[in-house]
Amino acid sequence: MSDVPSFDSRRGRGRTLLARNADLLVTMDAARREIRGGGLYIEDNRIVAVGASDALPDSADEIVDLSGHVVIPGLVNTHHHMYQSLTRVLPAAQDAELFGWLTALYGVWAHLTPEMISVSTLTAMAELLMSGCTTSSDHLYIYPNGCRLDDSIEAAGRIGMRFHATRGSMSIGQSQGGLPPDAVVEREDAILADTRRLIETYHDDGRYAMLRVGVAPCSPFSVSRALMRESAALARSYGVRLHTHLAENVNDVAYSREKFGMTPAEYAQDTGWVGDDVWHAHCVQLDAAGIDMFARTGTGVAHCPCSNMRLASGIAPVRRMRDAGVPVGLGVDGSASNDGAQMVGEMRQALLLQRVGFGPDALSARDALEIATLGGARVLGRDDIGALAPGMAADFAAFDLRGLAFAGARHDPLAALVFCASERAAWTVVNGRVVVRNGHLETIDLGAIVERHNALSRQLVEAA
Ligand SMILES: [Zn+2]
Repeated sequence: MSDVPSFDSRRGRGRTLLARNADLLVTMDAARREIRGGGLYIEDNRIVAVGASDALPDSADEIVDLSGHVVIPGLVNTHHHMYQSLTRVLPAAQDAELFGWLTALYGVWAHLTPEMISVSTLTAMAELLMSGCTTSSDHLYIYPNGCRLDDSIEAAGRIGMRFHATRGSMSIGQSQGGLPPDAVVEREDAILADTRRLIETYHDDGRYAMLRVGVAPCSPFSVSRALMRESAALARSYGVRLHTHLAENVNDVAYSREKFGMTPAEYAQDTGWVGDDVWHAHCVQLDAAGIDMFARTGTGVAHCPCSNMRLASGIAPVRRMRDAGVPVGLGVDGSASNDGAQMVGEMRQALLLQRVGFGPDALSARDALEIATLGGARVLGRDDIGALAPGMAADFAAFDLRGLAFAGARHDPLAALVFCASERAAWTVVNGRVVVRNGHLETIDLGAIVERHNALSRQLVEAA
């Protein structure tokens, strides 16, 4: 079964890529087809045909033989703080819960520079791309020393990742009862003006967009109620998406009750932060009323299992959310609370953690892949990524099953990917461009970036 178009009917035929002979091609299409010996035919940045390899065209500008590989739609990461890659395993923050962890780190992050944003974004994106992730959001909410969201955006363009950059913010410092030190918060009028500038400069709402901008106050405990409301109004005036952290742990819930007299979900509703254009990170402590309300309104969740375990935040009720109809995507979260921020490992931990909380059938390998592909696409408001089908963006990843990591697991290649969780993609293609080829990142000099990243990490920690 395949969908082969009539090639004669199209003019201006662009560069073509044929990927074929995959052991298994997992489409995540409407019929959830999994095709043995499957392949893809790509023209420019979009998929033209998907099916059995012998039903596809037999020539193309580039042909990739994927014998021995499992092919999946490019993974979609819905929550990250890429700058935190500079502060992995900082001793003072290794063994703390959320508020203590943040308090240990804010003073270090106060010394970030524009180059640090740029290099850490390249590092984090390299890790994602090399683990089969083709689209990522990032939540940058701290802007000291001239740092700008533009620094991340430029890095994404350089490395070739599909990017949802979000303009984060913090405006309530310790002197006003917030958690962050006053030195790292911004004025609210400046936040809103810069957010407008970024949307007007960069946001692309077209199909196959490589860059979108979202509006993302950091959390209810670091911005005012007024900024939550104004951010939501600003985002909606431009038709861009809204993102923040919500109900991450019990202290977060206690803060909400004490400061606002509401649960986090009630506060989100009160400030305009529900709807199908909103996604909240974590929601570990989202209560039953909150789950119902999120389902009713189409409000999305970025589930970040490694971070939730690292900070002992708890087990997000993902199974219950999905059963209720809440859109759920997967997120690695920042590398200071998930020191190995790559998406295949995150799928595995999502599966394992739901089972710890809710039993052995709480999440299957196919559920985990769905959250990491279609779930992420929905949470980011996209219908052009997350599945391999004609008309979708040409974003896919292939993993070589012939090595040690999958030895003895070849009966079910899709489940092998999630359960065995070897993170190294052999091929990652983004928007029709080969970014990872035979396990090698093509777009940047990775060795030089890692070396610079380590030097900047040292400089950052020593400055604090
Ligand atoms: Zn986060």
